[in-house]
Amino acid sequence: ARFRGVVSQSLIGIVIIDCDAFSYANAKFAEIFGYDADEVLLLGPMETVCAADRARVKESLRQRQNREADHDQFTFTGLCKDGSAIDIECHASALEVGGQRLLISLVLDITDRVRSEREVQELQRRLQDQSIHDALTGLFNRRYLDEYLERELARANSAGIPVSVIMIDLDWFKAINDRFGHQAGDEVLRGLALTIRDSTRPSDVCCRYGGEEFLVILPGMSADSALLRAENIRTDIMLNSIPFEGEVITMTASFGVASSPQSGRSADDLVASADAALYAAKETGRNNVRQARTPQESSNEIAAH
Ligand code: GH3
Ligand code: MG
Ligand code: MG
Repeated sequence: ARFRGVVSQSLIGIVIIDCDAFSYANAKFAEIFGYDADEVLLLGPMETVCAADRARVKESLRQRQNREADHDQFTFTGLCKDGSAIDIECHASALEVGGQRLLISLVLDITDRVRSEREVQELQRRLQDQSIHDALTGLFNRRYLDEYLERELARANSAGIPVSVIMIDLDWFKAINDRFGHQAGDEVLRGLALTIRDSTRPSDVCCRYGGEEFLVILPGMSADSALLRAENIRTDIMLNSIPFEGEVITMTASFGVASSPQSGRSADDLVASADAALYAAKETGRNNVRQARTPQESSNEIAAH
């Protein structure tokens, strides 16, 4: 009775396959694939399956025909009369009738469901992507930075590998906004993000830390190499002027470099060390790179006072 109810609601297509031909098809089956009821019986089963999935479906039929299996359930891309592709879920079984093997397939058109699932996945991917990126520059945002740096440091500390961070702050950026306007300021920030990305390795993680502050995480990079890298980025920023509405905007930035383990083993400590070094770079004239002191140097200094 339940079976009949489903059929009368016409949700499920039903076919019986006998000797590689459809010997019975209900109206829904024909409708799913866009055929008239009598046309469908002239088809072979493979004519409703797209080329890429034929081997899979053929194998299922073969196993049931040869009594290797009684049931099978799979999805495939169906081929309609007009050539369009649809997503099909198939519940297949075999039936012994008077010594003859009949293969029965119940098919559902799941095209809408598959499309919705893909849309949800795409939406999830986009939201996930947005939640860790900065909208203006496309670099990673601070949320991602915090999570990534903590994880990377835990990994690197236990493996005895260094991690360096470079904190970058544009010099006199407020003056750029004041002189050229906020739009120009935004353009400068976008250009700066490109320069930073071009000056780092793909494995480095470039983040927008705040308004005109950026932070680059360099996994596996020692303090000496990070200092050289920061120098390179500093030069690149100085040389890469940003064109804006017929004007050319030049800028410089100041840098603080800190490396684990010597300048901090936690994300907070390492970033604080880089920040202190950046502050020193600002204090000593801007457009330069300063390296964080090690905790040892700092405590010696405190002891000396
Ligand atoms: P310093 O050399 O000491 O770093 O000077 P500064 O002017 O760069 O620093 P300050 O912190 O005084 O000013 C930062 C400016 O950055 C102020 C703010 O308006 C601007 N800013 C922050 N976020 C954005 C943004 O998304 N777009 C634009 N156009 N400006 C921004
Ligand atoms: Mg700043
Ligand atoms: Mg600044």
